[in-house]
Order: sequence, then C-alpha cells, then structure tokens
Amino acid sequence: MKIHRELLVLCKQEKRITSEILTKLQQMEDRRDYLDMAYNSLFDYLVRGLGYSEATAYQRQACVRLAKEVPEIKQKIDQGSLTLSAVTTAFKHLRKKPVAEKRKVLKSMENKSSREVKAMFLEPTPTLKIKKTEYVDKVLLRLELSHEQNKTIEQLKALKSHRHNLESLLMDLVEKELRSYGIDQLKASESNRSKEFAVSRSKNSRQISRRLGNDVLRTANYKCQYPGCESRQFLQIDHIFPVRLGGDQRRSNLQVLCALHNRHKG
Ligand SMILES: [Zn+2]
Repeated sequence: MKIHRELLVLCKQEKRITSEILTKLQQMEDRRDYLDMAYNSLFDYLVRGLGYSEATAYQRQACVRLAKEVPEIKQKIDQGSLTLSAVTTAFKHLRKKPVAEKRKVLKSMENKSSREVKAMFLEPTPTLKIKKTEYVDKVLLRLELSHEQNKTIEQLKALKSHRHNLESLLMDLVEKELRSYGIDQLKASESNRSKEFAVSRSKNSRQISRRLGNDVLRTANYKCQYPGCESRQFLQIDHIFPVRLGGDQRRSNLQVLCALHNRHKG
C-alpha cells in the first residue's frame, strides 16, 4: 500500500532525526553551552529553548544522561531495539546504580515493549489474597486475583493440555514443586491415597470393595485407561461390561476411567 510505504520512509527519517537530535544534545550537555544562553539546565533548555513538553524533555534528557555512561544505547535507539520511553523508565530506576549494572539492565531491555520494560521495574508481585475456610470434609479457598495475575494463569492453562482446569493445574504445580524438593514419594502416596479415597466414594464403586478398587487403580498406574488418555484426574472405577447389562464385579471386568471418559462411555 502506498500510504504504508510512505509512513515507513517517514518513520525511518524520524528515527534518524531523533538520533541526530540526541547526538547534538549530548554535545550541548558536554559543553554546557545552554548556560551561556541563560538556561539553567539541559531540561530547562529543552523546554524553554526548544519548546518540548516537559514529558518529552524529560525523555530526551534521560537518554542523553544514560547514553553518556552507556554510549551503545544510542545505536540501539537508532535501530529501534530500545525505545525512548524504555530508556526513560530505566533512567528513572537506575539513576544511582553503577554503570556495569545499567549496561546489564539496558541490554536485557532490548526488543521489549515499554509495557514489558515497566514490568521489569515493578515491585514484587502483590501478594495473593486468599480466604480459607475449613469444613469437616473439605477446605474452601477463595482467591482474589488482579486481572493481570488471572491473565498469567490463563496463559499457562492455555499452554498446558486441554485437560487442565484450574484445580488440576494448581495440583500439578504443587506436585512439581514438591518433586523439586525430592518429596516425590510422599507426594505419590498422599495423592494416591486421596485418589483412592475419591474412588471409594464414587458412585460406581459402591458395590466394589475398597481393596479391589485400589488394586485396579494400582494396576492402571493411577491413570485413565481409555486409549490415548493419560489423565490422572477424577479417576473412577468402571465396569467394562455394564452392571445393568449383567456385568459382574470381578477384577477382569473392572478398569480405571477418568470422569470424562466414564461419562463419554455412558
Ligand atoms: Zn480419560
């Protein structure tokens, strides 16, 4: 499109001009020429002398000051891998840091959106607000999230398999974390016990002894036995040949299905 091509050219010019302005401002700052013209600082010169808004003047000044210590950022700005607003954010937060650290942080900011750069300097994530109520048979957790936090969770959920709901995702993460501490054994026995408990209470197992149910689960390695499904969530003992059609309770007629596939089987 013609207008797009024209804009591309203009943007390129804009970047080049910005870069030229920064170079000249740098000279101005080094020689303090603005003092001769009765401006008391580079900022003052940018606002009163050149007519920049205060916000833009602040950006320009931040770039000049940072580029003095970390000269390579000028080139990054020219190439577009660092934006003026990103550099300004960095300037605000890195002001008193040693040059080496400035350089390191600026490097890590390359090609990030200004939103991402702002996030880099945010205080640690606000703590989650959780309200916990304990009942005899369960614990109710009410979790208050910011939209941002919720979005992060949704992202992970989307990356994980479609089988994950929030509960299974949470338990997965907890188990993974436990495993990283080498508490695999404990985890396995505990989570299996809870699955055994769940199974023993499920509708289907009413006629199946707990011992038999657990045996079926162990044989199935605590996974859904539906072909292709490996779910470890909401497992139930299923009669391969349904009881209502004359199926029996023998071990050979029992298998493990996740709730989804049990329902699917009908
Ligand atoms: Zn399944």
